[in-house]
Amino acid sequence: MRPALRAIRAVDGLVARATVPLTERRDVVLPLLFHSLVENEADLAEGSIHPAYAVTTGQFRAVIAGLQAAGYTFLKPAELSADRCPTSGRYALVTLDDGYANQLRAVPVLEELGVSAVFFVATGYVDSDRSFWWDVLYRELTRRGADAPAISTSMAMYRAQPREAIEGALRDRFGADCLRPRGFNDRPLTQRELRRAATSQYVTLANHTDGHNVVTQFGHQELIAELNQAQEHLVAFADSRPRLFAYPDGVTDQRLRDIGPAVGIDYAFTTEPRPTNLPLRERDFGLGRFTITHEASPQKQILALRSRWSVLNTYLRLAAYRRRTQTPA
Ligand SMILES: [Zn+2]
Repeated sequence: MRPALRAIRAVDGLVARATVPLTERRDVVLPLLFHSLVENEADLAEGSIHPAYAVTTGQFRAVIAGLQAAGYTFLKPAELSADRCPTSGRYALVTLDDGYANQLRAVPVLEELGVSAVFFVATGYVDSDRSFWWDVLYRELTRRGADAPAISTSMAMYRAQPREAIEGALRDRFGADCLRPRGFNDRPLTQRELRRAATSQYVTLANHTDGHNVVTQFGHQELIAELNQAQEHLVAFADSRPRLFAYPDGVTDQRLRDIGPAVGIDYAFTTEPRPTNLPLRERDFGLGRFTITHEASPQKQILALRSRWSVLNTYLRLAAYRRRTQTPA
């Protein structure tokens, strides 16, 4: 972890330890965001996926169990509606983005702890045998000796482009074979795996677009078509129409307020780290989520989640706000 980030986390930890016992929020949902689940640290060192978006299965379990021990109840995705959601108390929600095969590791943990989770799937990747572009960029640049800041800069440059353009640029830069998955850790789910996972009562599939493009790239009709395409695929995979959506790369779009209900979506999640206050609104297209990382201990992250004050989260929220105001919606 970078020294500045470590220092910010340390300050946040001190503040949280001092304030959580007296000032912990009430009547709140803490939505958690996970991406890849790896077996252990060696899986990360193998380098096929971007480590910033991964936790070990043990960390995944520890964060959920730790919040349960601290008095939080995990919401079932079906409870995300104004009339079914509790209006008081402390709650959390597990979400996993993108549709990695490695997220199958979550299912036994969810079953053991009796916790349901939302799997936001980019349906165009299912069965594609194509790695996610950010993992490809990470592993190719790492192999060439790039450090974390250089990789972040490069990633930011690609992010605003359509996925096909990014993948074309990566093939040109790193070779035709670079998008091929290296193994279980970096490949997307297959249709068969998704269908099987969706039979678990603890797994709910939801919309993360078809192609994992930032939604502000689309014209009005294109955006409707993109969301509908993902909806149709998910209906075919799990036999139920998703009501939840997660913005690819967390880039929000005001148009979801109109387009969402038209395609059956009532709630959309960003990557801005903030809680949802209860009671839940009838519809909400800007719900925050807290990204869980392998870079800090589960205990420290749980304390930070429960704290009202966090320098790191304030910084991340400001960064998200800046991104939003720079991008025409
Ligand atoms: Zn995503």
